[in-house]
Amino acid sequence: MKKNQSEHRNSNAIDFFNMNHEKILFCQDQKSGLKAIIAVHNTVCGPALGGTRMWSYKSDQDALVDVMRLSRGMTYKNAISGLNLGGGKAVIIGDSHSQKSPELFMKFGEFVDSLSGSYITAEDVGINPDDMLQVSKTTRHVTGLPGKKGDPSPITAYGVYMGMKAALKFKNGTESLNGKKVLVQGIGHVGLYLVDYLNKEGAEIIISDINKSAIENVVKKYNCSVIKPNDIYTAEMDVYAPCALGATVNNETIDKLKCSIIAGAANNQLLDEKQHGQQLFDKGIVYAPDYLINAGGVMNCYAEIHGISDKKVMEMAGNIYQTTLDILNKSQDENISTSLAANRIAEKRIKEESLKSK
Ligand code: NAD
Repeated sequence: MKKNQSEHRNSNAIDFFNMNHEKILFCQDQKSGLKAIIAVHNTVCGPALGGTRMWSYKSDQDALVDVMRLSRGMTYKNAISGLNLGGGKAVIIGDSHSQKSPELFMKFGEFVDSLSGSYITAEDVGINPDDMLQVSKTTRHVTGLPGKKGDPSPITAYGVYMGMKAALKFKNGTESLNGKKVLVQGIGHVGLYLVDYLNKEGAEIIISDINKSAIENVVKKYNCSVIKPNDIYTAEMDVYAPCALGATVNNETIDKLKCSIIAGAANNQLLDEKQHGQQLFDKGIVYAPDYLINAGGVMNCYAEIHGISDKKVMEMAGNIYQTTLDILNKSQDENISTSLAANRIAEKRIKEESLKSK
């Protein structure tokens, strides 16, 4: 199955106004070819921070659904991580290999700037720190710049690794990854750093990517096996680590999955959070909520804004271990899915912040 098919199959089922976004900005510029959407979901805990994704969406509707889901996820991620940030996200509609230009990013920066700091941008899929440098020429509301904290992916990978270890501890009583079969789907920025952590701990690594050269690079450096994208969901593995795009846990894949743990970097791994979160819980698959364990990157951005040291930000990402364990235990104690357990904690914080500001 192609990643985008699963991610956007439900486009028409989205109840836009029920997602409670504060603002959606459609950005278009004929000269640079920019077509983008910025979604500010919630600013109760602080300015909305979330990356910009560049992707060749099949339709504008798909892009809208993606940015709305992703920005909402950022609200929960920032809230559960205890950061004074709200949730937002942007998507640039286009091919990141052929349609980038300095003009396009500068124009995008102007749109970000028009939101007066209620949205702060950063990198996401298809975007790198040099692109953000172009964006920074027209707005100061941008993080992840070269020469500052830069690429958030290494910290994201560290947080995912810590969340994965917490899930192992919860499931098996030991956090060791030694000899555990871990399938990393997508060996891009985050996936690659994750492979490095897994390798150091002696995990049996399986990788999959639609980009052949990415696979070649990893195979040269690490002892790992390769699996075709279509074979992922039937593979034997202990841990499935989705590190490509979202919605890979859906009606088509959930019954096939043979893992006992899902812990990866991709945002919105569950196509339908409520339904698929419950199904995983019923199947006994421990799902480490994506927005919780992939929060290292946003912590890095937060650290850039507030001048927090690298050491401290690694400590913050390391705390993902304990937060994950707490949520998995809450899920068990209250007999609710892990995604619901995480949502309840995030919503509690948002409610508390909202009461404070009244
Ligand atoms: P990336 O673009 O660098 O890497 C994604 C990789 O996935 C690419 O190599 C791509 O070829 C591969 N891919 C795409 N579809 C695939 C498929 N169907 N099967 C196998 N491989 C596939 O992106 P990234 O920065 O590594 O981010 C990965 C995921 O983690 C995204 O969902 C992103 O939103 C999320 N995330 C990233 C960060 C960060 O710090 N970069 C932070 C939080 C969340």
